[in-house]
Amino acid sequence: MLSLVVFTDIDDTLIQTMTKCPSTDGLKALGFDSQGNALSYATQQQQSLIRLFKEKARVIPVTGRNLKALKQTDIGFHDAPYLVTSHGAMVYENGLQPAAGWKHPLDYADQQQHLADVEKQVEQWMRVNKVEGRCRIIIDHDAPVYVSVKAGRSSRCDWLHEMKQEFIRDWSQHAGDIHLNGNNLAFLPVFADKAAAVSFLKGILGDCLYIGVGDSYSDQGFLNLCDFQMIPSNSQIVNGDKT
Ligand SMILES: [Mg+2]
Repeated sequence: MLSLVVFTDIDDTLIQTMTKCPSTDGLKALGFDSQGNALSYATQQQQSLIRLFKEKARVIPVTGRNLKALKQTDIGFHDAPYLVTSHGAMVYENGLQPAAGWKHPLDYADQQQHLADVEKQVEQWMRVNKVEGRCRIIIDHDAPVYVSVKAGRSSRCDWLHEMKQEFIRDWSQHAGDIHLNGNNLAFLPVFADKAAAVSFLKGILGDCLYIGVGDSYSDQGFLNLCDFQMIPSNSQIVNGDKT
């Protein structure tokens, strides 16, 4: 029998913020901020799914979180053979070293320049359009890996959609994708690609039964590389949210 490998997204798949939970019954805090305050929770169904995966499979997270933010979850990935972080920009071997054979984000000089440029352009766009939010470059393994834009909690986030429309053509010509989900917008360079990271790991792991788990359009590429796909019923993919 083939051994089972589960590649799984984390946020809005295994955990989510309280406001996105269907009820408060039986919630367990599994995601925290840097001070240790609870931010994200698993429902009883998600807790059972996590336990089932860990009993039966090698579970590999494939997440937009960088390593620091991944460590602020308590899902039990300490024994994962590999970790895919920052939308696929980094692949770590257990022991938290970059996986052998994985090209480091700093080795993509032109993409690093695009990241620095787009951060400045986005900040300027936000000033000109007077929107409430923040823009920052996410760092993983001491390297810039993507630009994250968040709408302020109290503000409407329609402007993220507008920003995406304005930047998409230029960005996709030079770099990768712009991913929008809820009040988060991410400018991904070509090296931040969950599908490329999963493809790399499949090459190492060989013949296995692969199940992919994820909620958003940015997961679809790696889900398609798996033998089976598992998608939360209330998710960007299922709801067909055209952002
Ligand atoms: Mg997600």
